[in-house]
Amino acid sequence: MSQVVYARVPDSLKDALDLYAEERGVTLTSAVVDLLERGLVAASDETSVADLETKLAIASAEKAQVEANLAGAQNELGTLRAFGQRSLQPIGVCPNRACGKPIRGFDLLAVGHCPQCQQPLTDLLAPRKPNSLNEREVGVLLGALGGALMAVGAAVFGSSR
Ligand SMILES: [Zn+2]
Repeated sequence: MSQVVYARVPDSLKDALDLYAEERGVTLTSAVVDLLERGLVAASDETSVADLETKLAIASAEKAQVEANLAGAQNELGTLRAFGQRSLQPIGVCPNRACGKPIRGFDLLAVGHCPQCQQPLTDLLAPRKPNSLNEREVGVLLGALGGALMAVGAAVFGSSR
Protein backbone atom coordinates (compact mmCIF):
# COMPACT_ATOMS: atom_id res chain seq x y z
CA MET A 1 0.00 0.00 0.00
CA SER A 2 1.30 3.44 -0.82
CA GLN A 3 0.18 7.03 -0.93
CA VAL A 4 1.11 10.07 -2.94
CA VAL A 5 2.96 12.99 -1.40
CA TYR A 6 3.00 16.25 -3.32
CA ALA A 7 5.97 18.35 -2.37
CA ARG A 8 7.42 21.38 -4.14
CA VAL A 9 11.21 21.26 -3.94
CA PRO A 10 13.96 23.64 -5.13
CA ASP A 11 15.41 22.99 -8.60
CA SER A 12 18.78 22.09 -7.11
CA LEU A 13 17.22 19.40 -4.92
CA LYS A 14 15.23 17.99 -7.88
CA ASP A 15 18.45 17.85 -9.93
CA ALA A 16 20.25 16.07 -7.11
CA LEU A 17 17.40 13.56 -6.76
CA ASP A 18 17.47 12.83 -10.51
CA LEU A 19 21.23 12.29 -10.36
CA TYR A 20 20.91 10.04 -7.28
CA ALA A 21 18.27 7.89 -9.06
CA GLU A 22 20.24 7.74 -12.31
CA GLU A 23 23.49 6.71 -10.56
CA ARG A 24 21.69 3.85 -8.81
CA GLY A 25 19.52 2.85 -11.72
CA VAL A 26 16.29 3.33 -9.80
CA THR A 27 13.16 5.38 -10.40
CA LEU A 28 12.84 8.88 -9.00
CA THR A 29 10.12 7.57 -6.64
CA SER A 30 12.40 4.82 -5.31
CA ALA A 31 15.20 7.35 -4.79
CA VAL A 32 12.93 9.75 -2.90
CA VAL A 33 11.48 6.95 -0.72
CA ASP A 34 14.97 5.62 0.04
CA LEU A 35 16.33 9.05 0.96
CA LEU A 36 13.27 10.01 3.03
CA GLU A 37 13.39 6.74 4.98
CA ARG A 38 17.09 7.19 5.70
CA GLY A 39 16.52 10.82 6.68
CA LEU A 40 13.76 9.83 9.10
CA VAL A 41 15.95 7.15 10.71
CA ALA A 42 18.83 9.61 11.06
CA ALA A 43 16.52 12.23 12.63
CA SER A 44 15.16 9.62 15.04
CA ASP A 45 18.68 8.49 15.96
CA GLU A 46 19.66 12.08 16.68
CA THR A 47 16.91 12.22 19.31
CA SER A 48 17.98 8.85 20.72
CA VAL A 49 21.61 9.94 20.94
CA ALA A 50 20.62 13.18 22.65
CA ASP A 51 18.49 11.21 25.15
CA LEU A 52 21.35 8.80 25.81
CA GLU A 53 23.80 11.67 26.29
CA THR A 54 21.43 13.29 28.78
CA LYS A 55 20.97 10.00 30.66
CA LEU A 56 24.74 9.45 30.68
CA ALA A 57 25.33 12.94 32.08
CA ILE A 58 22.76 12.32 34.84
CA ALA A 59 24.23 8.90 35.65
CA SER A 60 27.74 10.40 35.74
CA ALA A 61 26.61 13.13 38.13
CA GLU A 62 24.90 10.54 40.34
CA LYS A 63 28.03 8.38 40.32
CA ALA A 64 30.16 11.35 41.36
CA GLN A 65 27.72 12.10 44.19
CA VAL A 66 27.81 8.47 45.38
CA GLU A 67 31.61 8.51 45.28
CA ALA A 68 31.67 11.74 47.29
CA ASN A 69 29.26 10.25 49.83
CA LEU A 70 31.44 7.14 50.08
CA ALA A 71 34.58 9.20 50.63
CA GLY A 72 32.77 11.20 53.30
CA ALA A 73 31.52 8.04 55.00
CA GLN A 74 35.04 6.59 54.98
CA ASN A 75 36.39 9.75 56.60
CA GLU A 76 33.62 9.62 59.18
CA LEU A 77 34.37 5.97 59.88
CA GLY A 78 38.01 6.89 60.42
CA THR A 79 36.93 9.61 62.85
CA LEU A 80 34.72 7.15 64.73
CA ARG A 81 37.53 4.57 64.90
CA ALA A 82 39.93 7.19 66.24
CA PHE A 83 37.33 8.29 68.77
CA GLY A 84 36.73 4.67 69.81
CA GLN A 85 40.45 4.13 70.35
CA ARG A 86 40.92 7.39 72.22
CA SER A 87 37.92 6.72 74.44
CA LEU A 88 39.75 3.71 75.91
CA GLN A 89 42.67 5.83 77.14
CA PRO A 90 42.78 6.90 80.80
CA ILE A 91 41.72 10.52 81.17
CA GLY A 92 41.73 10.94 84.94
CA VAL A 93 41.04 9.25 88.23
CA CYS A 94 37.83 8.32 89.97
CA PRO A 95 36.45 11.24 92.02
CA ASN A 96 35.73 8.79 94.88
CA ARG A 97 38.81 9.42 97.07
CA ALA A 98 38.54 5.91 98.53
CA CYS A 99 38.77 4.47 94.99
CA GLY A 100 41.09 6.74 93.00
CA LYS A 101 41.34 4.26 90.10
CA PRO A 102 41.89 5.50 86.56
CA ILE A 103 38.81 6.22 84.47
CA ARG A 104 38.65 6.18 80.67
CA GLY A 105 36.85 8.47 78.26
CA PHE A 106 34.47 5.60 77.59
CA ASP A 107 33.63 5.38 81.33
CA LEU A 108 32.94 9.11 81.48
CA LEU A 109 30.96 9.61 78.25
CA ALA A 110 29.36 6.25 77.54
CA VAL A 111 29.01 4.35 80.84
CA GLY A 112 28.75 7.31 83.23
CA HIS A 113 30.28 5.66 86.28
CA CYS A 114 33.58 4.32 87.59
CA PRO A 115 34.18 0.70 86.50
CA GLN A 116 35.71 -0.11 89.93
CA CYS A 117 33.40 1.47 92.51
CA GLN A 118 30.40 2.53 90.34
CA GLN A 119 30.87 6.17 91.44
CA PRO A 120 28.79 8.37 89.08
CA LEU A 121 31.07 10.48 86.87
CA THR A 122 28.55 13.09 85.70
CA ASP A 123 30.07 15.74 87.98
CA LEU A 124 33.29 15.48 85.97
CA LEU A 125 31.56 16.90 82.90
CA ALA A 126 31.05 20.19 84.79
CA PRO A 127 34.34 20.50 86.72
CA ARG A 128 33.76 21.95 90.18
CA LYS A 129 35.76 19.71 92.47
CA PRO A 130 39.53 19.69 92.91
CA ASN A 131 39.68 15.99 91.97
CA SER A 132 37.93 16.57 88.62
CA LEU A 133 39.39 16.13 85.18
CA ASN A 134 41.74 18.56 83.59
CA GLU A 135 39.55 20.98 81.59
CA ARG A 136 41.66 20.54 78.48
CA GLU A 137 41.16 16.76 78.64
CA VAL A 138 37.41 17.17 78.94
CA GLY A 139 37.43 19.66 76.09
CA VAL A 140 39.35 17.27 73.85
CA LEU A 141 36.99 14.43 74.69
CA LEU A 142 33.85 16.47 74.17
CA GLY A 143 35.24 17.81 70.91
CA ALA A 144 35.93 14.28 69.72
CA LEU A 145 32.47 13.14 70.79
CA GLY A 146 30.83 16.06 69.03
CA GLY A 147 32.82 15.36 65.87
CA ALA A 148 31.89 11.70 66.01
CA LEU A 149 28.20 12.47 66.48
CA MET A 150 28.25 14.97 63.62
CA ALA A 151 30.00 12.37 61.46
CA VAL A 152 27.34 9.80 62.28
CA GLY A 153 24.61 12.32 61.51
CA ALA A 154 26.21 13.27 58.21
CA ALA A 155 26.70 9.61 57.30
CA VAL A 156 23.10 8.74 58.08
CA PHE A 157 21.38 11.81 56.68
CA GLY A 158 23.88 12.85 54.04
CA SER A 159 23.98 9.57 52.14
CA SER A 160 20.24 9.03 52.13
CA ARG A 161 19.68 11.83 49.61
ZN1 LIG B 1 35.93 4.56 91.48
